[in-house]
This record gives sequence, structure tokens and C-alpha cells, in this order.
Amino acid sequence: MRTIFTNPNHKRLQRLWFGLIILMIACRAAALPFAAAEPQPQPPGLQAESPTPAPQPAQNPAEPGPTPAEPGPTPAEPGPTPPAALPETPSLPIPQPAPAEPAAPPQVILHPEGGLYVGDQVSFEVLPPPDGLAGANQVSLSLAGPAQAHFPVPQSLGTQRFDAFGIGGRTQATFTWAWDTHGLAAGAYDLTFTLLPDGPTWTQTLELQPADQLPAAEQGATWSLARSACCAVYYITQTEAERDLPQLLQDLDAQAASAVGRMGITFTAPITITLVPRLVGQGGFADDTISVSYLDRDYTASEIGRIIHHEMIHILDARLGGSYRPSILVEGLAVYQSGGHFKAEPLMPRSAVLLDQFGSPPLAGLDWYIPLRPLTDEFYTSQHELGYLEGASLVEYMVRRWGWEDFSTFYRDIQPPTSGGQASAINTALKRHFNLTYAELEADFLQALRSEPTSQAWRADVELTVRFYDSMRRYQQLLDPSAYFLNAWLPDQKVMRERSIVADYLRHPSAPINLALETLLAGASRDLIAGRFEQMKARLDAVNLVLDAVQAGIPDPLQASPLAGRYARLVEQISGLGLAVQRLEIEGQSASAWVRDGLTGLREMQFTELENGAWQTSP
Ligand SMILES: [Zn+2]
Repeated sequence: MRTIFTNPNHKRLQRLWFGLIILMIACRAAALPFAAAEPQPQPPGLQAESPTPAPQPAQNPAEPGPTPAEPGPTPAEPGPTPPAALPETPSLPIPQPAPAEPAAPPQVILHPEGGLYVGDQVSFEVLPPPDGLAGANQVSLSLAGPAQAHFPVPQSLGTQRFDAFGIGGRTQATFTWAWDTHGLAAGAYDLTFTLLPDGPTWTQTLELQPADQLPAAEQGATWSLARSACCAVYYITQTEAERDLPQLLQDLDAQAASAVGRMGITFTAPITITLVPRLVGQGGFADDTISVSYLDRDYTASEIGRIIHHEMIHILDARLGGSYRPSILVEGLAVYQSGGHFKAEPLMPRSAVLLDQFGSPPLAGLDWYIPLRPLTDEFYTSQHELGYLEGASLVEYMVRRWGWEDFSTFYRDIQPPTSGGQASAINTALKRHFNLTYAELEADFLQALRSEPTSQAWRADVELTVRFYDSMRRYQQLLDPSAYFLNAWLPDQKVMRERSIVADYLRHPSAPINLALETLLAGASRDLIAGRFEQMKARLDAVNLVLDAVQAGIPDPLQASPLAGRYARLVEQISGLGLAVQRLEIEGQSASAWVRDGLTGLREMQFTELENGAWQTSP
């Protein structure tokens, strides 16, 4: 007998997921396909590791961004699972003459990541076997506990369909918080998964560790709420957000005041903000609430205040309304009104270097300019940093030309296109308001960019910003895929709070290779912001050499780069001292490390490199 979960909350979850997706792409999405193994066409001059997006189907005109795939149904109440359910399927594969049965098992991604402990509420993402599903469309999971446990054996965790998941539409079966381990015995549990309708079945062993071995930072950590003048702020205790809360609340109020001043409209209700102690995507996403990653080892090159300001502009922009706001103008407006995308930056001078030539006498530009019509119609699948920069410059150009009031009136009067995509809608509104086609506007915009004073420094800044974020996303794809925006693990935060779930955010991959590459990326982001371009290139090259080796399946990929190897040896030395590294700087044979001191404190330590490559602490 087959069991299919029915879920009364499914529609609500669907809506919530949809909202998250829309604004996650709206704010942080980048246009990289999941499979990085094969070379992709890319803008000239981009690194080989920076794949550009595959073309996407036309967007739904009513909704900004690609239509998100709906996740598989989630158990309505994934609390304690029914006791003593019998296995639903035979434990042996059923012979299948054709099509051929998959030989290798599906990949199962567990949440929380990084080890399971008694008390965890565990989720499973089951990916199709490497050879494909061979006609299967569902998978059932069951668990058998250790012999000594008082545990109904085996226990069904239900059945889920293979379906498209996340922005990237990855095919998987999703079991959200399907296994509640409260009160269970520690030990080895056998997870059996069976493809339906006809098998086969595989079993893999999960190790459930005792609750008292939970990392210290997680023991006692729980959700908490703080309020400021503008905002209701959810955070997890014992994290950096709790440590810095007084300053964060002040900063939020300052950002809200700025956003209100820029848009000339006030918030009608407190803004709900969740401070997430793990990097997801590029650090921020929003639906009708805002989520921002806040952690010491943040390896993005973003200012958190600017991310929050950007999201606040979206909320106010939505309040001002408009029957059809094209994505390029929605995002362009948020960047323009925030004075930059990831940092304060002049928009027109940075866009000017995207052309084939810039300045006078002309210097060679990056030649990365994406023509407005394809960029408008495929905004969220175009190269992320370029699309946002061009959109923001275009908004700035229009505001300069017609003034804010006339621009805003035009923007909010754009109507859904009767045919074609978002570019057609803009074209029609431009003709009605300014007697101008989109192509004519672009010609004028390009002329303005060509005459814009700019510099080689902005060219380097734009080039390295694109290179940095492409490398960062590549790291996530290969070594922390649940942080990668296309497959991001974005649990329902309201349910997380109701069920006191914090491990999905607190625990994530932290092997030496993760710590080494994250500290390298974080260092590269500081170099980028400070304009230390040569040092930044060296750190980014180290990251990409290691990722090349990971992708090629080379054992010990950290040895692919001498610099990454030095970081890794230092990271392991620090971990061996029982400390968690947050930030590293190596200069000559000396290193400064900022490590976690207590639950959230930071302490600087000095190290010296020995001739054999090992590091030792310095006084
Ligand atoms: Zn945005």
C-alpha cells in the first residue's frame, strides 16, 4: 500500500515558498546553473569558472522573475512520527526488465548539516540516482533504530513525490522535518529508501549522536525577539546577532529613516527582520519580511546596512504600487535608492566601463554590457552583478532626465504587455509618457555612458566584483550547496520558531576546506572593498584553484594552491586548539587569526609559520 502525505498547510507553504523565491531572486539571485561541471558560455573576460545562465523560459508577466517550482508536499505536522508503522515496500528490489534499474543510490542531503544529535528535527532531500529515476516518481523513507533503543522498528517517514524544488527547479523529493529525534537513543539508525512504484531499495546508516555532545554554541540557543522603532527583529540567542543587538537595532532604525526619506512614504507596520547566523545566497532575501545573514565569517562583499536598506526600498516601492513593475526597474530602483548594490558606489561611472571603450582618450572597456531588451526579459537569469548595475544606472539616467516625479509616474503606469515580455511593456509605456521607444532610450543611455567620466579603478572594481561573486557562488555550488541560491534550504521561519528549530541555521559544513575557502573569500572581499586588487586576485586565484581540483575529483584539493594549503594548515591548527576561526590574515611568515572566544566573543591570536609549513602560536 502506498501512503501519500496530504498536507492541509500545503497551499500556505506553497504561497510562502513562492513569496520567498520571488524576493530572493529579486534581491540576491545570481544567474548560474547548478551544474558547473561543463563549460558554459560566458561574458568575454570572465573566468572559466564563472558560468553564465542557461536561457530561461519567458517569465510570467504577472510576476517578477522566473516562476518558482513548487516544493514537494511537506508533512503537515512533522512532529513525532506515527509509531510502529510497518515498512511499506519490500526490502528487496523488484526485478524490472525495462527500463533498467538505477544502479547507484540517490544522494540524500540531511538537514541539519554537519552531524545529527538527539533532539534534532531532521529533514531529507532525496535527489534522483545518478542514472536517473528509471520510471520512478516517488520515494518512501523508513528508519530502523539501534538494537538497544526503545524505538518502533522500522518507522515510516512517509512518501514524497519527486518534484522541482527551489529557484533552480532541482528534481528531488523533500521530507521537511520528517524525523523528530527528541527522546530517542543515540546510535546508528538505518535509513531505507525505496523508489516507487517498483523499487529498488537502498539502506544507509545515520549516526545520531548524544544530545550532550551538541556543540556548545547550540546548547541552549533559542529564538528571541527584539523591537526597535522600525522593526521586529528575530534572532537566535548566543549568536553574533545577540552580541551586537543594541547597535544593530540602532542601525535598522537609521536605515529605515533613510529609506523613508528617499521614497517619501512611511512604513505602515513594523518591519519583520530575521537575522540568520548562516550565509544563504548572497546574504539577504525577503518576502513580506526581510532575512539577512549576520555572522562573523561572512564571506560576501556586502555591507549589511545596504542590504537591509535595499530590502526596505522594495517594501516601500511595493506600497507605492504600480500595476506591472518590470524586474529591471524594481531592482534598479532599490540599488539606485540605496546608493549602490553591495557598497556605496557611483552607478553611471561603473556602468560606463561595461562598454567596449570608455573615457577620453578611449580606454578598453570590459565589453560586458548586456543590451537592455534581453536583460529586461531575462533579468533574474542574467549575470547578477551586471544586471543590477545596469538597471540601477538606467533608473539614475531616467531620473536625471525627467525628474523623480515623472519617472515614478511612468514606472507605476507600466501595464502588463499584451504580447512579448517585460521589455515590450516598458516600450509601450515609454511611448505613451515620453514619446520614445525603448531602443531610443537605450541609444540615449549609451550616449550618456560614453560621455561619463570614469577611471581604470572603476573598471578594476567592476571586473573584480563580478569575479568575486561568481567565485563565491561557485564555492557554494561545490562545497555548501544548501547555501547556493538555486537550491537554498529556506525553511519556513515561522514554523522554525514555533517548533524551536535552530540547528538548520546554526549547523553547516565546516570541514577544513570550508573554513579555509571561506576565510580566503572573506579576505578577498575585504581586499575588494579596500581596493587592494592584487592581494584580492591572489586570494581569489587560490580559491578557484582548489575548486578546480574539487571539480576534477582530485584527492586533497587544498594542495592545488600553496596559499590555500597555508590557510588550511592554519585553520586545522586553530581547530585543533578547540577554537573556531572567523578571520585570517597572513603576512610573510606571520598570521593574525580572529577566533571565537566563548560563545560569541572574538579574540585575536598570532601565529608563526615554521619551515616545515606548520604553524605555531606566537606570544
Ligand atoms: Zn532586490
